[in-house]
Amino acid sequence: MRLVFLGAAGEVTGSCTLVETGDVRFLVDCGMFQGGPEARRKNQRALDFGFDVRGIDFVLLTHAHIDHSGLLPRLTMLGYRGPIYATRATVDLLAVLLPDSAHIQEKEAEWQLRHRHRRGKGERGIPAPLYSVAQALACLKQLQPVDYWRAVQVAERVSVVFRDAGHILGSASLEVTVTGEGKPRRLVFSGDLGMSGRPVLRDPEPPPAEADVLLIESTYGDRLHRSLSETEDEIVAAIERTRAAKGNLIIPAFAVGRTQEIIYLLTDLVRRKRLSPLKIYVDSPMANSATRITLAHPDLLDREARELLAWQQAHPDKVKIEFVADVEHSKALNDIRSGAVIVSASGMCEAGRIKYHLRENLPRSECAVLIAGFQAAGSLGRRLVDGARLVTIFGVQVPVRARIYTVGGLSAHADQAALLQWLAGFHKPPGRTFVVHGEAGASANFAKAIGEQLMWSAVDLPQSGESYSL
Ligand SMILES: [Zn+2]
Repeated sequence: MRLVFLGAAGEVTGSCTLVETGDVRFLVDCGMFQGGPEARRKNQRALDFGFDVRGIDFVLLTHAHIDHSGLLPRLTMLGYRGPIYATRATVDLLAVLLPDSAHIQEKEAEWQLRHRHRRGKGERGIPAPLYSVAQALACLKQLQPVDYWRAVQVAERVSVVFRDAGHILGSASLEVTVTGEGKPRRLVFSGDLGMSGRPVLRDPEPPPAEADVLLIESTYGDRLHRSLSETEDEIVAAIERTRAAKGNLIIPAFAVGRTQEIIYLLTDLVRRKRLSPLKIYVDSPMANSATRITLAHPDLLDREARELLAWQQAHPDKVKIEFVADVEHSKALNDIRSGAVIVSASGMCEAGRIKYHLRENLPRSECAVLIAGFQAAGSLGRRLVDGARLVTIFGVQVPVRARIYTVGGLSAHADQAALLQWLAGFHKPPGRTFVVHGEAGASANFAKAIGEQLMWSAVDLPQSGESYSL
């Protein structure tokens, strides 16, 4: 058996692992590199994957995030015609996320073209979109929805079981069993793991008892998250202060996952009478779709989320949630001077309608911005977190007079303690463990923690492009 680490090795994005066993070849995830010019270069380098994609028998997908799924349309446009197995909720999310990813790339290329023409330069050097909206739509036809827990025979000698990873809707850890001569071999892919006890989704399920090979994520392998109750206190303080000052509260949030979590937390705080009744505007077409898909899968929500949903339906006047669809309605929100809570995307304030809300509200000292998600270096969100007094939005300088709150306790990823706890679910150490999906420091730190706290040996830190024969 051979494993080739094509991405998310020594870094967080671009998840893609090639597995070859006997005459069977398959991919686990096929993600895009994200975050700045270096990621763009890596995506361009990965244009043909470095191998004939028509030789792949099937693809297994852990979840819908673009850094795990974003190069699937590239794979199919290069001639891959086989199945892409994913949970039902993941398939539903991809129907929105992949065409959106294509749309963003097309817009970006158009913008670059206009920009270069304005500066009197040619078209050379402008990266073409990796795929078009039509190609993203074509890729969706190859998705094969599967249920959790049911063993799926994906090749004559290979079966797979999807287990809930509690990370985003539809997310899964995979248990792949390869039979043949001798003892069956079991490969476990953690996928991205969520935090137990967090709202909305079910907790991650423990791994199977044994594995011959394990790939474990390590995004936050070197740190511990703040508790949820501290985060709630911070949110209550931000809302009360902003109300007293008669301003608006703007919350940038990732459309999938974080937006639904924020709606849950705010509604729950009103239900518990920690906040007086609220009106929330959710201003992001993608977040609206993601929320609709979430509500269409009530079986994937935890008990508390289902109870809160019932409470909200019985008390519609306590928390009024308005999903803003059209652009005119979105613009009209700019006229609201006080009392509004506006949740909008993108989560790092780089694109989308959030930029309009920031332009309107940042210069007003009575307003506030609540940052609840990861902000990559170089993003507008990061500059706000770092205390910038002046930012540029749509080419115009905007003074930052609004109060900026950063709440740390909401993360879709398990922290070090939660990752170790998940690993402790194995009844004996896996034959070989690969620590992936983390920046170099986080992965190394986590590998050390595995050795010290679980006493496992045979823990590797693969680098991008490396292959291992097992
Ligand atoms: Zn993810």
